[in-house]
Amino acid sequence: MFSQKYGEILKPKVYLEKSEIKIVYLPPVKSEFLMQLHDKSFVPFLSEAQIMAAVQKVADAIAEDYKDETPIFVGVLNGSFMFVSDLLKVYPHPCEVTFVKMSSYEGLTSTGIVETLLDVSEDIEGKSVIILEDIIDTGRTLKELVHMFSNINVKEFKVATLFYKSEIYKGEYTIDYFGMEIPDKFIVGYGLDYNELGRNLREVYQLNQPHMINLVLFGKPGAGKGTQAEFLKEKYNLKHISTGDVFRYNIKNNTELGVLAKSYMDKGDLVPDEVTIKMLQDEVEKNADASGFIFDGFPRTTAQAEALDAFLMSKDMKINATIALDANDEVLIQRLLERGKVSGRPDDQDEDKIRNRFDEYNQKTAPLKDYYESQGKFHSVNGIGAIDDITARLAKVIEEL
Ligand code: AMP
Repeated sequence: MFSQKYGEILKPKVYLEKSEIKIVYLPPVKSEFLMQLHDKSFVPFLSEAQIMAAVQKVADAIAEDYKDETPIFVGVLNGSFMFVSDLLKVYPHPCEVTFVKMSSYEGLTSTGIVETLLDVSEDIEGKSVIILEDIIDTGRTLKELVHMFSNINVKEFKVATLFYKSEIYKGEYTIDYFGMEIPDKFIVGYGLDYNELGRNLREVYQLNQPHMINLVLFGKPGAGKGTQAEFLKEKYNLKHISTGDVFRYNIKNNTELGVLAKSYMDKGDLVPDEVTIKMLQDEVEKNADASGFIFDGFPRTTAQAEALDAFLMSKDMKINATIALDANDEVLIQRLLERGKVSGRPDDQDEDKIRNRFDEYNQKTAPLKDYYESQGKFHSVNGIGAIDDITARLAKVIEEL
């Protein structure tokens, strides 16, 4: 059927020569351009030429490996539609194409839940499958994809992605082909969206974060960190991450993490650093578009503080201030016992457990005062008084930063 080499007739150049159709190009985006999508602004990150070079790189590498067989490309919707389209246009050999659709829930989970919206078609059995992803970051979606294909007898299963955040990829699966490694930035364009906008952009943009504020709220259990965070997050448009809340959410949903955390929390002990640090990082990564964070209940050990600094640095972020809410133990114990009557939290209902939490704080968390003082970031405010007055004290510190 094909007298020319397969693919030649599909090359846009040939097509244009035979066509009367005039291609009208959109005006190029100027580099000083600020792209506004919803409430966020974005700045140019990758040009169309850079993206196309990355697409070509993936196509060439796959073509080299599959010159003697016909793979089936499986695009992962929605983000990959442009990549799939452009890759297929430059892919020089016979191939098939199909799509699956997945979506990640937003929320307080530590592992993230990925929902399948369009399942893989069955005629894929016995074929060489090449997954086409627009971007791979933590590997959460990829894990779900591998699971999706685990019941299907495919000949071979390979993974290709246009953009690869190798710094944060935590998955166990090999990424067989990638177009370009990119730093851990929140990006939009060329199929990728911010709340569904930006997919149609021909270039890739990164989030413009000129005024990011990241705060650590510091203080003993019952000091009012959670209460104050609720006000501050509204006032300064910040994302509030409470590690205690994330653990409690996991306990309620009986996740693996919840079961593990419960055994420590019920006694008033700290959950091990390794688990807590990973969970915190996942929470930050899930909110890559945030204009800043309030860390409440994290860090609680020096290892956590060091891990947080290193992690934020890898994202071009930093802690701007650590603000302690001061209150004495007797006031705090009364507050916690009162809260325990309403919240039902087992660790708030028993004075021994509360005292154990204070011991944990004195031994493991209090030394962080020196850690942040040595960085010139430690502030403290009086945590006793009316809620509004305490918010005003905190706001004064934040506004002077
Ligand atoms: P909170 O709601 O902040 O008082 O936290 C309740 C419990 O969750 C603590 O007593 C710990 O068992 C656990 N937890 C919360 N944050 C951390 C953390 N950063 N490191 C270790 N354990 C934590």
